[in-house]
Amino acid sequence: MLKTIREQNFKGQRVLLRLDLNAPLNNGIVQEDTRLRAALPTLEHLLNQGAKVIILTHLGRPKGDGDEALRVDPLAKRLSELMDRPVPKLDDCIGPDVEAFVSQMQNGDLVLLENTRFHAGEKKNDPEFTAALARLGDVFVSDGFGVVHRAHASTYGLAEYLPAYAGFLIEKEVAILGGVLENPQHPVALLMGGAKIDTKIGILTNFTEKADLFLIGGALANTFLFAEGKNIGASLCEKDQKEVADAFLKAVPKERVVLPVDAAVAIEINPSVARHEVSVEVVGDQDKILDLGEKSIELFIEKLKTAKTILWNGPMGLYEIPAFAEATKRIVAALAQSEATTIVGGGDSIDAIKAFGYKEEDFTHVSTGGGAMLEFLEGKVLPGIQVLCM
Ligand code: ADP
Ligand code: MG
Repeated sequence: MLKTIREQNFKGQRVLLRLDLNAPLNNGIVQEDTRLRAALPTLEHLLNQGAKVIILTHLGRPKGDGDEALRVDPLAKRLSELMDRPVPKLDDCIGPDVEAFVSQMQNGDLVLLENTRFHAGEKKNDPEFTAALARLGDVFVSDGFGVVHRAHASTYGLAEYLPAYAGFLIEKEVAILGGVLENPQHPVALLMGGAKIDTKIGILTNFTEKADLFLIGGALANTFLFAEGKNIGASLCEKDQKEVADAFLKAVPKERVVLPVDAAVAIEINPSVARHEVSVEVVGDQDKILDLGEKSIELFIEKLKTAKTILWNGPMGLYEIPAFAEATKRIVAALAQSEATTIVGGGDSIDAIKAFGYKEEDFTHVSTGGGAMLEFLEGKVLPGIQVLCM
């Protein structure tokens, strides 16, 4: 059971609030602010109670300290716009200056601290660094769902020093994703695609007994076609995952697994290439499978109509190039129209939704998780959630 911020009033307390504000920047400006907006309910709740809120986040992957482009000033600016109030930002996340600032804070004040990953101790969960962070707060509130799969100082270590609570975002993600794992409305369809096969196969395996239907597209499908002995030519494929794919295909009744029957292929990937479809039985040695073909698209959409719960992760094709965006576009449209519970996750999948003009509200739930969501659905115990449980 998660211990959440609902259990207590934080008035007058110094709350160290770990968020995942890691947003894409463009020329020092936040390009996409989903993660910032997702942090607002917890932030507003704590401030309204009269807590002193000290925000921790990472941004990107700094190499050592002082990676100027990865200072969090653009996040403070965007947050300030979203909250319609000033958001002070400090140039470090530990040390005497930070402590001095925090000691002056009044109830209802907030501050954003510098990128936690400027300190090597963050990722190492170094006790000295963690203790320096812990000195800043009376309690630790964790609400960065996107980082709960990491046992870092600010996502995990702090719970050893301070009473720890989950914020509303983590509470919601765990309720919804946990619901799919534990008591979903059947039939459950798992719609999986994308390219990072080793991060996806674990989910298929974990759902072997939980899902009623497995629809596999994207480059992920290539590994399965390959496992079935089909020629996939020069397609993207993780051949070393063949055995995992084999084991999955053996464990699941055949009628529950839907693989592409045809594909859009090309010998070279470039933006001006024309769409050309073939049956998966006749893929040439030089062909790359880059999208589902028309028959597969119709088949997938037909099957999805039978589901009451649909979990989607991973584009159905190389959607960045218009000639190979067809399957992803049509299937996203089908999901947006579906009456079923639709749960979507994955950085590229969410990009695709937006690129095709859909909004988060068109789906039941769009996870802010990425890697954390994938690991959660694999059934792993996530360190950043474990420390928030009683
Ligand atoms: P997500 O971020 O949603 O979890 P992934 O990162 O696993 O998804 O995969 C997204 C990428 O997979 C996209 O860049 C897309 O172009 C690529 N992709 C999907 N299908 C294919 C394919 N058949 N061949 C090559 N790349 C593909
Ligand atoms: Mg991705």
